[in-house]
Amino acid sequence: PVVLGIESSCDETGAGLVRDGVLLGHAVASSMDEHARFGGVVPEIAARAHVHSFAPVVHRALSEAGLRMADIDAVAVTTGPGLSGALQVGVAGAKGLAYALDVPLYGVHHLAGHVAADTLDHGPLPDPCMVLIVSGGHTSLLLVRDLARDPIVHLGDTLDDAAGECFDKVARVFGLPYPGGPAIDRAAREGDPRAVRFPRPLTGPGDDPYAFSFSGLKTAAARWAERHGGGPLPVADGAAALQEAVADVLTRKAVAACLDHHVSTLVVVGGVAANSRVRALAEERCRAAGITLRVPRPGLCTDNGAMIAAVGDLLVRAGAEPAPLEVSIDPSAPLEYAALQPRSRAL
Ligand code: ATP
Ligand code: MG
Ligand code: FE
Repeated sequence: PVVLGIESSCDETGAGLVRDGVLLGHAVASSMDEHARFGGVVPEIAARAHVHSFAPVVHRALSEAGLRMADIDAVAVTTGPGLSGALQVGVAGAKGLAYALDVPLYGVHHLAGHVAADTLDHGPLPDPCMVLIVSGGHTSLLLVRDLARDPIVHLGDTLDDAAGECFDKVARVFGLPYPGGPAIDRAAREGDPRAVRFPRPLTGPGDDPYAFSFSGLKTAAARWAERHGGGPLPVADGAAALQEAVADVLTRKAVAACLDHHVSTLVVVGGVAANSRVRALAEERCRAAGITLRVPRPGLCTDNGAMIAAVGDLLVRAGAEPAPLEVSIDPSAPLEYAALQPRSRAL
């Protein structure tokens, strides 16, 4: 069956088409530029941009796949977590399509989408696998079995900021353009990661091995910038050192989690998995530990509709129950199952 996936939880409108685990085509439109002068995503602007981009993005994905509307056998949509207004637009559009085409609708958890993105590049996930999800809003270690059937086990999460949020906030302090993650990555190429030694939070002997904390790192980077007060800031060095600290903590904990749980595959997903240093250090440490590393291509790490279609495809093939047409969004959905059923009908 051909599954159309729709993503609209934040500032990317994405549509993707997947059949039996194979990506047929996808398209993404971002309202990133419209948020730049505010230094962060403005929910109302994001929601309006989804209204404008929904139909064009679906059509672009279809034409890339060489398919027509009538070829769609099921629709999957992100129902949470994310910005309410943004989610509403994608869910309303997906419901309209499912109703008009008379095909089943599936509600998908955005983070399960990030996890499933990797299957489009590297095939089915082994059971079990360790997943490090690092994005703009989340930093978690997950033990994943069968994504379509089994509950997901949370080993640890960030206690404060997410890794992507840390990059975004420090980039602002460094005077780098929005969004900060890619800007830090670019700036770091010209820098020396050993020029500054930023802390490695929660890596001490008494610390929770699977918890993360990035707000202290953000403060340390801001203090370092202040110390250069007035004079020119060696931004490239600061960016390289920050990126090194984040990549070090993330990969160290992820590899340790694999070894502790005797899991031989690590999957790194989410927007920050696009970071060049995170990818390189994960590769190096996994090789040394005898762990198989899987990271999707950068374009499937950041938000997209293909990853939502990938979950929909898994759900269809697992015989999962479709969502009712009155399914609601769930802006703060906890990640327990990939398929999202509404917790309340209030919205
Ligand atoms: P969530 O998935 O937690 O709801 P989100 O959907 O906003 O949050 P993603 O789209 O998965 O997040 O990722 C966006 C984040 O990834 C941003 O914080 C961005 O700065 C970061 N990011 C993207 N590319 C890179 C990169 N090359 N290096 C570092 N960070 C990056
Ligand atoms: Mg985004
Ligand atoms: Fe995301």
